Amino acid sequence: MNQLLVTGGGGFIGSNFVFLTQLNSNTATINLDKLTYASHPHTLQALSQIPNYHFIRGDIDDQNLVTRLLQDYQPDAIINFAAESHVDRSIANPNEFIQTNVVGTANLLETTRLYWQELDAPQKSAFRFIHISTDEVYGSLGPQDPAFSETTPYAPNSPYAASKASSDHLVRAYFHTYGLPTITTNCSNNYGPYQFPEKLIPLIIAQALNQQPLPIYGDGLNVRDWLYVEDHCRAILTVLERGEMGETYNIGGNSEKTNLAVVKEICELLNELVPKPGFDYQSLITFVKDRPGHDRRYAINCTKIKRELGWQPQETFSSGLRKTVQWYLKNQAWVNAVNTSDYQNWLAQQYGIK
Ligand code: NAD
Repeated sequence: MNQLLVTGGGGFIGSNFVFLTQLNSNTATINLDKLTYASHPHTLQALSQIPNYHFIRGDIDDQNLVTRLLQDYQPDAIINFAAESHVDRSIANPNEFIQTNVVGTANLLETTRLYWQELDAPQKSAFRFIHISTDEVYGSLGPQDPAFSETTPYAPNSPYAASKASSDHLVRAYFHTYGLPTITTNCSNNYGPYQFPEKLIPLIIAQALNQQPLPIYGDGLNVRDWLYVEDHCRAILTVLERGEMGETYNIGGNSEKTNLAVVKEICELLNELVPKPGFDYQSLITFVKDRPGHDRRYAINCTKIKRELGWQPQETFSSGLRKTVQWYLKNQAWVNAVNTSDYQNWLAQQYGIK
């Protein structure tokens, strides 16, 4: 049986990845998660139903704990999703991002190296450390610039992006210096089930269902390349199975959209699925003061993973968005569970809306 140590599996992408590994009965998953605000009790409850799943509450920065886990479970691979992941929160409080994304990843790498170098030769060469990262490390594109490729120089602009860029460099260094078998993936914006509602797509769905303002930063013309989360998770599995050690792979949906276009498409879906006579959800759109240093455009060239590993996204933006809206409609209790007064205060402060 394969043993996977997943970090941050209580969050959005990590939980979707663990659900995907459930499809293979030959895989056991150990989820190490600190349980920050971004993990969700209902998600953890759903994960706990999976056979061969073990949950450990803890920090990737805890050397003793990680050492013990590696000794106890002897994983064949580590997939590192654990991170502080929200750009706005990194602007308000960068230190937590440095602590988890940089120092935490450094600890995970070093502890893994000490474990890995004691393995016997076949286990050593079969071992994998997959680091999940973002396209935001590449900075911002102009309207006519070519999409980010694996050779685009890093130019992070937010504390979040800078902390992820640092962690990517550490992962690279552990491959080149120690031979630790690492791969980094840099993916575009994800959307889908189990995403914390502070991120654009679930935020807009939740606000619209409560007939609250739909906040859009600046002129709404910032462009992101969107990928359905299950397609991202399938790409990670592909990289785990067939990726080349020491390489990086860009992952994206070839689906560039302005934020305004995304919000309008959600409103159209809600007009169809939850119609209110004489009411158009687009009437709730509210432009708010822009995020400081807001990157204008991200776009991903993912030719390499398609050509070399044979991965393809299965969803278009329209099909993935429809599934996502349907999931949030079916799972309103999930959203309501995080819709605390603290969260409402944070939203009000962030966007200047009530
Ligand atoms: P998320 O914020 O939804 O989940 C992060 C999870 O990590 C949470 O469960 C949290 O409790 C856990 N965590 C945080 N700090 C920890 C620590 N010190 N030790 C152990 N666990 C800790 O994030 P996400 O959107 O699922 O992103 C997962 C990874 O994918 C991140 O590394 C992120 O940078 C990357 N990524 C995200 C996107 C996206 O669109 N969401 C796109 C590309 C890459």
